[in-house]
Amino acid sequence: MRVRVDEARCCGAGQCVLLAPEVFDQRDADGVVALLTPEPAPPHHRAAREAAAVCPTSAITVDESGDTGGDGAGDGNRGGNRDDGQDG
Ligand code: SF4
Repeated sequence: MRVRVDEARCCGAGQCVLLAPEVFDQRDADGVVALLTPEPAPPHHRAAREAAAVCPTSAITVDESGDTGGDGAGDGNRGGNRDDGQDG
């Protein structure tokens, strides 16, 4: 799993930090999301997905392509999901 955040979209609501404090934090200065762990461990995958789902500005993208939970040999970065202005 690979997590990305779009700081420009983030409105600092903090939902992601509440759901997945191992993965996300907020900057002290302005409350904008700070990604702590771009590749969270499996125990945190569910929380990361939930954070992406509840983020009011769709600032979080979770890419699970090629993620089999194996030995991490592949770091395939092809395409990825593209959010197109979904608002919640
Ligand atoms: S839930 Fe979304 S808008 Fe809120 S702090 Fe996290 S990334 Fe930013």
